[in-house]
Amino acid sequence: MSNVSLHNVRKVYENGRVAVASASFEIAAGELVVLVGPSGCGKSTLLRMIAGLESITAGDLAIAGTRVNDLAPRDRDIAMVFQNYALYPHMTVAENLAFGMKLRRTPRAEIDRRVGDAARMLGIEALLKLRPAELSGGQRQRVAVGRALVRQPKVFLLDEPLSNLDAKLRLAMRVEIARLHRTLGATMVYVTHDQVEAMTLGHRIVVMSDGHVQQIDTPMRIYEKP
Ligand code: ADP
Ligand code: ADP
Repeated sequence: MSNVSLHNVRKVYENGRVAVASASFEIAAGELVVLVGPSGCGKSTLLRMIAGLESITAGDLAIAGTRVNDLAPRDRDIAMVFQNYALYPHMTVAENLAFGMKLRRTPRAEIDRRVGDAARMLGIEALLKLRPAELSGGQRQRVAVGRALVRQPKVFLLDEPLSNLDAKLRLAMRVEIARLHRTLGATMVYVTHDQVEAMTLGHRIVVMSDGHVQQIDTPMRIYEKP
């Protein structure tokens, strides 16, 4: 079953810049696909089109069998984790995790259950009453992942989630994300410019260059010496 399907997806910005020329590929349910390539190659634009944060100039995009070209982010079965965490500074960790569900009038018991589950999975139970400014970078990124988790989406979109962390934390969080992926069985689309991250995390890797998809294959086949 295909969970994310792109058919000739194209993005031209208003200034004429062709960020994504024409991308066509399928991501299976439960797969972890990494989009990799140098800065400016169009990875983030592609991810943001899947998220609904950027309009699609041409082509078709489907998530879980539904064409989503014209659907708002909230109507897509996705959650996104951003490089800069995007936490609400005036709220505690628990409030950050609960906020979206409160807006949607999720029952209190359900909110508490999901916040508790996410906090346990990420080892941040002790942080629930703190505010983002009181957290380390790694802790903030855990909370950002937690905010995506509580949405219980079919598809997780991660945009350079570890780029702001130091090397040691990056490794720890990489292992953590792989573990979460196994535990949840969710589909993940992960953007990075780091080849090691791509190689160690991806089931399949989409290599991009200057707006074009150059190669889609397993890490073995992409990175093995000829
Ligand atoms: P990556 O994520 O691989 O670094 P991006 O998707 O951010 O690449 O950018 C792809 C290209 O589109 C780059 O040339 C970038 O400068 C350009 N670009 C990105 N956002 C915009 C925008 N809002 N308006 C115009 N050009 C943009
Ligand atoms: P919150 O932003 O705290 O989750 P909402 O879910 O109501 O609260 O946020 C408004 C909209 O922003 C959502 O309906 C959804 O479309 C989008 N949104 C919120 N969190 C995410 C996320 N992690 N990934 C993608 N979109 C999100």
